[in-house]
Order: sequence, then structure tokens, then C-alpha cells
Amino acid sequence: MHVLIVEDEKSLAQEIENFLSHSGYRCDLCQTGKEASEKLFVNQYDFVLLDLGLPDYDGLDLLKEAKEVNAEAAFIILTARSSTNDKIAGLNLGADDYLAKPFSLPELHSRMQAILRRKHGLTRNTISIGGFELDILNRTFKFDNQGINLTKKEFDILHYLILNKNKVITRIQLTEHLWGDILEDDYESNYIDVHMKNIRKKLAAFSDPVWLETVRGIGYRIN
Ligand code: CA
Repeated sequence: MHVLIVEDEKSLAQEIENFLSHSGYRCDLCQTGKEASEKLFVNQYDFVLLDLGLPDYDGLDLLKEAKEVNAEAAFIILTARSSTNDKIAGLNLGADDYLAKPFSLPELHSRMQAILRRKHGLTRNTISIGGFELDILNRTFKFDNQGINLTKKEFDILHYLILNKNKVITRIQLTEHLWGDILEDDYESNYIDVHMKNIRKKLAAFSDPVWLETVRGIGYRIN
């Protein structure tokens, strides 16, 4: 999961980054609206955490702009403003949630998980597939209660494919999601295939992952 943190209080931004990195998120930090606007234009994020009180931008204007270029992202407003009007305005502009400062980092994480569940129509933090079980909160992948030892990248690939079940996900999408940049040379697209081969091997030791389909020349799909 790729997260953009837009927050001009440097220490808070770093605390959020540390916390989320430990939970497996990849974070970009911005301290100004201008920087955020540039990043939003070139990257597709899963989450945008947006402080409304920025030095150079009205946070609500930035939210409006960000929704246009990053339609798939979930937006959480971080606000020190106690005004209910700002919260309402933010939610009306399409923010998914808001947190009033100060907030606890575990609460932020829980809210993010709740948004993910809603977005993907899940009622729990676990998703079952072919006898395997993905736990999105604890970042585990199990078969019959036995943990499977996946690397971080392998877990992230499976997690992303499973959340997007029944959709073909291209190698470029996976690369962008995992590394944040679109890398076009063949070596890098081969890199995804190598991870995928390792994933299949690890899963097959438990049960043949017939649900994990390679769509020739395009990418992968979970059925
Ligand atoms: Ca601020």
C-alpha cells in the first residue's frame, strides 16, 4: 500500500511514517500543498493523509484537486481545526474519514483498515481463498492455520491481487504499487515474474494455488 502523508508538522509526519512503515505501508512525505500536488499528479496512491492546515494551500482545495487526479485513493483528513464545518466540507468533497489532532497512531491504522474493508466489501480482516487465509491487519498468510513464510514483497503482491480479486492486474500496476514508479524495462517486469514464481512455489507446498492465474503477456488475476 502506497501512502502520501501531507503534513507540515515534520515530527508528526515522521511519526506517522515510522508507524505505517512498520505496518508494511510505503510512505511519501510532503510538507507543502505544492509538493503534494506534484506527487499526486505522477503517482497513484492507496491512501492520502491530508492535513487541512498547510502553509501554502487551503487543504480543502487540495483535496478537491487530489480527488480528480487520484480517484482511486482513500482520503483521510487530519485536522487541528475543531470546526465541524471543515469536517463536513471535507467529507462532502469525498474524504473517506477524518481524524482530529491529536490522534493515536493505532487509531489511524484502524481507520485505514476499516476504509480498506469497506472499499473491498469485506466484513472481516481476513480473506479466504482456496483454503488459504490472508489476514490484512496482521499481515499473515496461512494455510490450515500454518503460517507461510513470505517475504514482504511477496506478501504485498498477494495482498494487492487478492484485494483486486477477479480483475486482471498488469505487471506495470504491480510494479507501480510495490515500488512507486513505473519501470518500463524488461528486466523489471521480469522481476515481478520471479516473485510470482517464488510465491507459487511456497503456496504449492501446501496446496496448488489454481486460483492464481497468469494472464499471458498482461499480468495476473486471482479467481
Ligand atoms: Ca498543519
